[in-house]
Amino acid sequence: MSQTDTHRVDGRKSGVESHARMPGELRMSREQMLDLGHRALELLVGRIENLPGENAWDGEFRQVLEDQLLEDPPEDGRPADEVIESVTRDVLPLTVRLDHPRCFGFIPSSPTWPGVVADFVAAGYNINQCTWLVASGPSQLELVVVDWFRRWLGYPEGAGGLFTSGGSAASVNAFVAAREAAGHPERATVYMSDQSHSALARAAMIVGVRRECVRMIPSDTDFRLDMDALARAVAEDRDAGFTPVAVAANAGTAGTGAIDRLEAMADFCEVEGLWLHVDAAYGGFAIVTERGQQLLRGIEHADSIGLDAHKWFYQPYEAGCLLVKDENTLKDAFAVRPDILQDTVWGANHPNISDLGLQLSRSMRALKVWMSVQTFGMATFRRAIDKVMELSARAEAYVRESPVLEAMNTATLGIVCFRVNPVDDDLDDAALEKVNRAVLVRMFWDDPAFMSSTLLQGTFALRMCIINHTTTWDDVRETLEAVERFGKEALAVSDTPE
Ligand SMILES: *Cc1c(COP(=O)(O)O)cnc(C)c1O
Repeated sequence: MSQTDTHRVDGRKSGVESHARMPGELRMSREQMLDLGHRALELLVGRIENLPGENAWDGEFRQVLEDQLLEDPPEDGRPADEVIESVTRDVLPLTVRLDHPRCFGFIPSSPTWPGVVADFVAAGYNINQCTWLVASGPSQLELVVVDWFRRWLGYPEGAGGLFTSGGSAASVNAFVAAREAAGHPERATVYMSDQSHSALARAAMIVGVRRECVRMIPSDTDFRLDMDALARAVAEDRDAGFTPVAVAANAGTAGTGAIDRLEAMADFCEVEGLWLHVDAAYGGFAIVTERGQQLLRGIEHADSIGLDAHKWFYQPYEAGCLLVKDENTLKDAFAVRPDILQDTVWGANHPNISDLGLQLSRSMRALKVWMSVQTFGMATFRRAIDKVMELSARAEAYVRESPVLEAMNTATLGIVCFRVNPVDDDLDDAALEKVNRAVLVRMFWDDPAFMSSTLLQGTFALRMCIINHTTTWDDVRETLEAVERFGKEALAVSDTPE
């Protein structure tokens, strides 16, 4: 009997269209596996090809989805192609298409195909990236990729770190290291700007800093942390018997892409004996470009840096990373030696990466970065990141020239904030907010693009985050034109006497 004969069912070629080849077992035949895999590939590649023709957002109300999907798990299975067809038809399209070339809301992401395939391969190899014994090859690959990041950031040898689920987990790990380096004091306080990502305040609370001891320092008109206010807050806290532990700086806020004064903050933290964590989850990978290196100067002085490769380094979720300037600070904070893992100690040269953070079982996140960089090369990544920085600068210029729009930030790192506010109108902020909310609603329902809004020190702003490497100037321009058009219509309505 030939290999294929053993995989025939009922005299016909087995495929995903037929029921499980091995009843009662959680296994598929070779042909079923290949058929299902091919079907999945076709669906995924087709999705990516069709993206520009779709809307950047699709969604449905809870009741509709519940009626459609709520059920008990079936006792008997059904053909795998039916399963994958139904989920790709009914469930997976109901999202923001974060990789759509006109998705500008929140923080979009646009994974490279080798990165997507890497996640599949890592799952197929069933990698548990916990210890050297269990996964020496993958551990070495993670060391290699983390070392790439170390050098891009200008960190010294002896710096190290690990991949995490994302920026949130990276900040939790960083604050654990900061807390332990400070001797885990009572009445600890941490400092960040009012522009810092909510994940940072949450991370501080997770490591045991009381909610009211997370100090939100005001930002200046450029959305950068006010250094004088920071110095005052630290001094007042010391006088009041608190123990300041860490300061978190922004290297690209999620709101506007603003970068705090990294060098001044590093100097301050050095003098005060405070841990400096730089949250570069959004903006960190700009460092691979010359422009980004200028902007992020001083980042190398931080005690720790969090980065998200699932944002501006074009990887599928989840691909966060934490680097610390002195790897021992993470080891000291996290290492424990359970008896059940006593066989896994290979000595200092063979790190158990799970000793550097909160996860034991870990997926092989470094593989996606490695495979995409190996496939495309750094020159291509650099060009892609440069290109979108150029697009956001051009978008800002368009906004500044538009008679209908008002720029509200300097687009240093890919984010443009603005509002409809014609020069010849003199509406107050409340009236403008009403107009701009109406514009956002029109964009949401009547335009294929997706964008979001924010409050900039209390003022309502439309916000475009332009970091997708597949986005063209036409995508950006036509979206801005739609905002202008909807803006004029909303203004016409608001000007009409009631
Ligand atoms: C996205 C983001 C975070 C949170 O990271 P996750 O990967 O979502 O956990 C933190 N800070 C900034 C600036 C971010 O953009």
